[in-house]
Amino acid sequence: MIGKEKLDMFCYQCSQTARGTGCTVKGVCGKEATVARLQDNLLLTVKGMAAYLYHARELGYTDTEVNAFIERAFYATFTNVNFDAEDFIKLAIEAGEMNVRTMRLLKKAHIETYGEPEPTEVRTGTRKGHGIIATGHGLKALGALLEQTEGTGINVYTHSELLPAHGYPGLKKYKHLAGNFGQAWFDQKQLFSKYPVAILGSSNCVLIPREEYKDRMFTNGPTRLPGVQHISGYDYTPVIEKAKSLPELDEEPGEVVLTTGFSKSVILSLKDKIKHLVETGKIRHFFLVGGCDSPLKKAQYYREFVQLLPKDTIVLTLACGKFRINDLDLGDIEGIPRLIDLGQCNDSIVAIEIAEALADVFGGGINELPLTLILSWMEQKAVAILWSLLALGIKGIYLGPITPAWVNDDILKVLKEKYDLKIIGDPKEDIKQILSA
Ligand code: SF4
Ligand code: SF4
Repeated sequence: MIGKEKLDMFCYQCSQTARGTGCTVKGVCGKEATVARLQDNLLLTVKGMAAYLYHARELGYTDTEVNAFIERAFYATFTNVNFDAEDFIKLAIEAGEMNVRTMRLLKKAHIETYGEPEPTEVRTGTRKGHGIIATGHGLKALGALLEQTEGTGINVYTHSELLPAHGYPGLKKYKHLAGNFGQAWFDQKQLFSKYPVAILGSSNCVLIPREEYKDRMFTNGPTRLPGVQHISGYDYTPVIEKAKSLPELDEEPGEVVLTTGFSKSVILSLKDKIKHLVETGKIRHFFLVGGCDSPLKKAQYYREFVQLLPKDTIVLTLACGKFRINDLDLGDIEGIPRLIDLGQCNDSIVAIEIAEALADVFGGGINELPLTLILSWMEQKAVAILWSLLALGIKGIYLGPITPAWVNDDILKVLKEKYDLKIIGDPKEDIKQILSA
């Protein structure tokens, strides 16, 4: 909710800007605050898509229609081009559709390059020997690193959102892909200080490093960090040399063993069983609980929510929000795990495709399924995914941990009235409301 003490808008993109510093109430050009905010929303959505497109292009996949849309979207936010709030809602929906295309493209790129993921147990401890931690989302960088470290005695560990990489046949074939460390992105300063290994950050969600590990950290691709060596291309010799110069890690078990790699094919192979369990009342409801995590206190909601769920419910999860819940032992319902990790944030397309397939099985639309989405957002990929879900007509999404700050009362009203979007509240009350609907 936007309070009176907050800015109505902020735009400083042209020389007419108020007082030479920024238009904050209404544009000198006449742009209304809601239009300015919807322009910001569109730019944030396109930024999210750009991350997925980047990784697809790394693997040789592009989509000219998506590229053309991005030009149009940027141009619409240019000074004195488009003052129409309704049109910016339409553009946001179109951006959501384009993001669905983009996520499909990236998934295709991943599967055609590394195979379709399969359920895989992942250690969270260390192996004896030198190590490299790879953080980020890019499978291309991880694949190249694994190829170049094979036979060197160096173990490669993934951090956070790279956990789903362990499920891809083309990556899990490397025996020195040794495990996954940490949880969501914001634990990295503590984690990277703890392990005396080389670190490679190849995509978003890297943090400005502490002095103590700056000299053993490297960036790659779009990432850059102050005082950290950047590697252009995919030759990781400096990372490998650094890893060899550092002390070896000891063999230590982790606290948990994680399971990842539930692909669309794996879930759809169970569709008849799932249908039977739903029709006989053994599965009452599905929840998709996940998204981009943040260190806000309110984000504790997601763990509490899952802990409070009755035992006849299934939880699908993805993105780094999964680390709030993926240590919980939820058991299974007649062999179907109650907690299913579908992958990274870009694997939201897998969740969408599974929902579409289940809707077919049950003979209705996604909104008729016993399924509720409980999403967390942090940055612009999550914004793109939210608009993708709205573009697909999915209603009744619960969003948190806070209302997006660029949304004002007018925009929130549209989202609530047209899409039944809800902001998370009390987990117990929300569960009660969902299950009694
Ligand atoms: S485009 Fe309009 S709102 Fe933005 S700075 Fe220029 S006058 Fe102000
Ligand atoms: S899921 Fe979102 S917040 Fe988490 S690491 Fe990926 S991009 Fe960052």
